[in-house]
Amino acid sequence: ESFDALDLSPIMRRALKKAGFEKPSPIQAELIPLALDGLDVIGQARTGTGKTAAFSIPILEQLDSLEDCRDPQAIIVVPTRELADQVGREAQRLAAGVPTEIAVLAGGRNIRQQLRQLENGAQIVVGTPGRLHDHLQRRSLRTKDVWCVVLDEADRMLDIGFRPQIERILRRCPKDRQTLLLSATLPDTVRRLAESYMQDPEVIDC
Ligand code: AMP
Repeated sequence: ESFDALDLSPIMRRALKKAGFEKPSPIQAELIPLALDGLDVIGQARTGTGKTAAFSIPILEQLDSLEDCRDPQAIIVVPTRELADQVGREAQRLAAGVPTEIAVLAGGRNIRQQLRQLENGAQIVVGTPGRLHDHLQRRSLRTKDVWCVVLDEADRMLDIGFRPQIERILRRCPKDRQTLLLSATLPDTVRRLAESYMQDPEVIDC
């Protein structure tokens, strides 16, 4: 099986080729079509399965240009600063050929620089729950145009104790958004979060 089966834009197919991706991983083959259909999805997937590209590709494919929309359209919530950097880099790599503004909002980093970046316009925001919540309170992170929220490594985020921040982020985003949840395990805590904030999610296990 190849990426040809996934009905991606020529520019995305070129970016995938350039990244050295020849065929979709199982999570990519399952999640990308569902996400492109606008569905909420719970993906049980560990690191190393290609989950980052699985949620980044459909977001990049549906992104409005910065000229059309200055405020964030997708928010990707991750448990750690390192993962925020990693996801930001991977998404930027897959955006090859299309000017795409991705702001990484990780805790412990210079907030002025992040404020400036948001002020200049960002299409995608990747961040840790605490810092994202901080930007929500400062009103520097505007959520009215968000159509997709990704919760990456949801089980880990809940283990760390980020539930209140995650809930506030979700409650501030438009109700008719898409929510994608990735998690290595699906304990009750994760299921309860999904029940409260997702709409008829498809569950895939890769
Ligand atoms: P992840 O599980 O998202 O952390 O990805 C693990 C690694 O696999 C990253 O270095 C990705 O760039 C790489 N990767 C993701 N999807 C593919 C693919 N379809 N073909 C080859 N490498 C991939």
